[in-house]
Amino acid sequence: MRILVVGGGPGGLFFSIVAKRCNPFHEIHVVEQNPEDATYGWGVAFTERAIAALRVDAPDIIDELISGQEWADRMEITVDNTTVPLLGFQFYRIGRADLLVLLQRYAAGEGVKLTFGQRVDSLSSRGEYDLVIGADGVNSSVRDLLAETLEPGVRLGSNWWAWYGTEQKFASTSLVFLRRPEGLVIGHAYGYSATRSGFVVEVTRSFFERCGLAGLGEEGSRLFCTELFADYLGGHPLLSNRTLWFQPKFVTCRHWSSGNVTLLGDALHTVHPSIGSGSRFAMRDAVALAHAVTECPGDAASAIALYERVRRPRADGFQQTALRSISWYEALADRDLGDPEMFAIEFAMRTGSVRWGEFRRRNKRLTRVFENPVPASAERRYRDEEQ
Ligand SMILES: Cc1cc2nc3c(=O)[nH]c(=O)nc-3n(C[C@H](O)[C@H](O)[C@H](O)COP(=O)(O)OP(=O)(O)OC[C@H]3O[C@@H](n4cnc5c(N)ncnc54)[C@H](O)[C@@H]3O)c2cc1C
Repeated sequence: MRILVVGGGPGGLFFSIVAKRCNPFHEIHVVEQNPEDATYGWGVAFTERAIAALRVDAPDIIDELISGQEWADRMEITVDNTTVPLLGFQFYRIGRADLLVLLQRYAAGEGVKLTFGQRVDSLSSRGEYDLVIGADGVNSSVRDLLAETLEPGVRLGSNWWAWYGTEQKFASTSLVFLRRPEGLVIGHAYGYSATRSGFVVEVTRSFFERCGLAGLGEEGSRLFCTELFADYLGGHPLLSNRTLWFQPKFVTCRHWSSGNVTLLGDALHTVHPSIGSGSRFAMRDAVALAHAVTECPGDAASAIALYERVRRPRADGFQQTALRSISWYEALADRDLGDPEMFAIEFAMRTGSVRWGEFRRRNKRLTRVFENPVPASAERRYRDEEQ
């Protein structure tokens, strides 16, 4: 098939590699608006489960990706000055730039044509291809151009986010919740190399407005956030990489395709930075589409239909998980965080995807309160008061 992929992010590149490996006769052209060596963002986290799932289709790539990378088997939840470790949360942390460079190299090695520095703003050439894939991220032009048929929904989160880096080392994935008079602020930190950590700042709408963050600009916001989290940064500043405040978009599409055009990754549907799985979500879409294309040789319409049939139930389920995480974070603005240990447990259970038995087995000290039977004296007192 002749295939055009709009966007050379993790989703578009992984699709082109897996599809080419399944059938080297495909002619695949990836068009990316950024120059070859450009990237936004810092590091991204992959759970061990995500890595295992991706390894099935590209073991060499995934092994190279994680070799020598940062790995941790715990998270840390800090509420003001109290830190609670959560065991059994296994993550690899990888620089987004490293991920893209690796995928670009493998794609080129498979014979995929890569064009950088070119934006696709029209679908006038779609007739020249059997299949066109919009892998152009959360602000997808392909999705916008076909909005009438795809019927996308875009919901803006109420919290504001800014994605920084820092040279402060965070060995495990760390979340810092700070209660300030103007509202709640959250730092999401994770080391992804010997010298770098990603540090994402999330603030509630009321904090954003009361502190006038919209008017501070890139440098003013960086200095403000460095000051805000100074106690946790070990004297290191936050670093900007064109870092601007944004409200994460939650994207859905009622229909996944229009004629010979379909979407994948953030262009089609997002999860949320708070569950840190968008890259793997996009790469899993990519695998499903590549397999569908392989199973329906020369028949793009059937491949697209198969892709949606196979992938949609799982993807919709994962979006529900993301929605639970979004709601949990956004509701924090209006409530007391309470006891840090109970709060940390609540955090771990917020999406329903962590099994309580397994969590308890790994976090015996933290969950001891649920294991001890109610003392007989307390039970007697309760009974007496009830009568
Ligand atoms: C703060 C933050 C933290 C995150 N943390 C994690 C994490 O820990 N783990 C994780 O897995 N994910 C994380 N993500 C999400 C992850 O970055 C995305 O979900 C993922 O990159 C989606 O991949 P994609 O290929 O669909 O799109 P993208 O990575 O956005 O790639 C789309 C590509 O298309 C290009 N493009 C766009 N428009 C055009 C056009 N018109 N023509 C040509 N090219 C175009 C863009 O330049 C880009 O390279 C995070 C995101 C944010 C914002």
